[in-house]
Amino acid sequence: PADTEALGRSTWTFLHTTAAYYPVSAPTSTQTQMRNLLSSLSLLYPCVPCAEDFQEKVKENPPDVSGREGLSRWLCERHNEVNEKLGKESFDCAWKSLNERWKDGPED
Ligand code: FAD
Repeated sequence: PADTEALGRSTWTFLHTTAAYYPVSAPTSTQTQMRNLLSSLSLLYPCVPCAEDFQEKVKENPPDVSGREGLSRWLCERHNEVNEKLGKESFDCAWKSLNERWKDGPED
């Protein structure tokens, strides 16, 4: 679609922000909900080539839904795979960088 870029930016914002506020250690029921969210997203994402690639990547690397840090890193790595495919710069997946970008902002 014409708005693949805006859709992507909004979806990544939703996903990384949701991970930044995900429980530090997630109960089993929450882990199931997150696994379902990611699996549904990979099936329903309204950019078909994006969705097909994402399904493949999720198959190769099952989501780490154990807690905030693992989920944030997992999403960062999947996002970097798309960045690489599109020739965009890779993001530093260290916890500090993810936290600064998606939750607390830089320390002052
Ligand atoms: P985006 O890539 O949207 O990133 C937004 C912001 O996130 C960046 O400004 C940066 O601050 C931050 N960021 C960047 N990388 C990371 C990271 N690794 N971890 C955490 N934060 C980060 N587009 C296609 O053309 N083809 C595809 O196959 C494709 N597949 C996609 C699959 C999924 C699941 C999603 C959600 C999007 C996909 N997109 C795809 C869209 C693409 O990833 C971008 O969203 C779009 O190109 C706009 O890019 P952007 O440069 O504005 O920044």
